[in-house]
Amino acid sequence: MSNQQIELTIGWLYPTLMSTYGDRGNVIVLERRCLWRGYNVKVLPLDRNATADDIRSVDLIVGGGAQDRQQEIVMRDLQGAKAEAMREKIENGTPGVFTCGSPQLLGHYYEPGFGQRIQGLGILDIVSVHPGENVRRCIGNLVVEVTASRLVQDLKKMLGGATPYLIGFENHGGRTKLGKVEALGRVVYGLGNNGEDGTEGVFYQNAIATYSHGPLLPKNPFVADWLIQTALRLKYQQAIALSPLDDTLAMQGREAMFKRLKVSVATPAAAKV
Ligand code: GLN
Repeated sequence: MSNQQIELTIGWLYPTLMSTYGDRGNVIVLERRCLWRGYNVKVLPLDRNATADDIRSVDLIVGGGAQDRQQEIVMRDLQGAKAEAMREKIENGTPGVFTCGSPQLLGHYYEPGFGQRIQGLGILDIVSVHPGENVRRCIGNLVVEVTASRLVQDLKKMLGGATPYLIGFENHGGRTKLGKVEALGRVVYGLGNNGEDGTEGVFYQNAIATYSHGPLLPKNPFVADWLIQTALRLKYQQAIALSPLDDTLAMQGREAMFKRLKVSVATPAAAKV
């Protein structure tokens, strides 16, 4: 199959309501990495005008963060057939990256700093509670070692055997507790899910849920490629090798961040033999 025959649709959940702190960066990276390889790529906004069939039609899903108020508006819309379509997509292994407010809504519920509890879709076995406006938000750089077993295996292969570390930036009031679901990783620097148990994010089916905002994929391009590769495998029912791209600048950016945060990791570049 040639690159020009490949078609991919990226579904972007509520672009105007849910795109805080540069979350559109994740959409841009996925789109660009497809275009650079010559794929036909489309970004479909899954907003209030979208139907359940629109949701069903996408190959990859991106969901960003939001303020509490916007989360409430989204949850009033993401009901019935649309909620069912989201559930089907995630349960059937459609890959996605969900940031901050999005995972809170994919969980059982989110309790804002004040106001009513917002019921989520209950796809992820997590609950999120904002401890109140007087308690400090979790803000700052984040470094996470990916520990979700299947994802670690895949990413290690892509990184020449190196341990996968994610660099991100978090900004959330809500604290998330995991039920019977695998964490995405363990916090090396920062606060993660709740600042207490050392976990960060969730990995469920092929959904990556994280408190890392939109620079996640620019700073960790191998995760973008994992999402694209997984989407292609599911769509075309065969493994499609991705042509390599020059990620030198992104890798240098990672080195600089590790150095600045004084985090010592075996970086992919150094680990390659
Ligand atoms: N409103 C949520 C919180 O404060 C999510 C914030 C966000 O998505 N940045 O936890």
